[in-house]
Amino acid sequence: MTLSLRESLSASALPRLETHLLWRHVLGVPRAWLIAHDGDPLSPAQIVAYQALEARRMAGEPMAYILGHREFFGRDFRVTPAVLIPRPETELLVECGLRAIRDVRAPHVLDLGTGSGAVAVTLALERPDARVRASDRSAGALEVARKNARDLGAKLWFSHGNWYDTELGSGRFDLIVSNPPYIDAQDAHLEQGDLRFEPPGALTDGADGLQALRDIVLGAPAHLTRDGILCVEHGWDQAAAVRSLFLCRGFTDVASERDLSGIERITRGRFPA
Ligand code: GLN
Repeated sequence: MTLSLRESLSASALPRLETHLLWRHVLGVPRAWLIAHDGDPLSPAQIVAYQALEARRMAGEPMAYILGHREFFGRDFRVTPAVLIPRPETELLVECGLRAIRDVRAPHVLDLGTGSGAVAVTLALERPDARVRASDRSAGALEVARKNARDLGAKLWFSHGNWYDTELGSGRFDLIVSNPPYIDAQDAHLEQGDLRFEPPGALTDGADGLQALRDIVLGAPAHLTRDGILCVEHGWDQAAAVRSLFLCRGFTDVASERDLSGIERITRGRFPA
């Protein structure tokens, strides 16, 4: 039996956009090609390849892992199950970081728990004069981040270790950013949607969701320059708790910012040495 793309698209149980993306992946073609050629017959091998991807998607696997990439800040990042899938709200963390170093020449920047490297690579590309170091305790994640840096042409320094417990080079940082695991270990969302497929260590600290944030805030002053900025992403209901962590640690200019959904998603502060 031969099937055309048009017939396959209308027979699919997936949303149309996902079916298109999977077919483009199987055929290795741009969107315009799919539309122009939707009457072409498909080969049995192509149909089998598509069906395998469709089955993975039907089982709930995130599109980003099936396709192997995800867009972030206008660039395409490779993603594997070793890393968290970059989220649109994390672009706010990048914007906060860029604002913090706007007036600093050749800033030193540190990204803790870099994962795919989306934040660190973006900062390095947006600020080519910056010296950006990215750390992660997962060797698998660092491998993905390294490839992203190489493919996108960013020069970064990488360190393997947990938060500050790693080779950080000499000198202090003008900016520290982090999107740490901040979901409460008891949160039922960990058992739902894409989160089921993402590395648990990138999602939850195994405690109340604030433990990684506490460690990052407490350790930051020892690694920040005078008036250096710490900027972290956190959960929808954690902004007040995170602001008080910053204030108790002696940070000033502490403020949270809302994401496009109106949720206080990041908090920043300046450390007056
Ligand atoms: N932003 C992710 C989510 O809520 C969580 C990632 C994280 O813990 N940093 O789906």
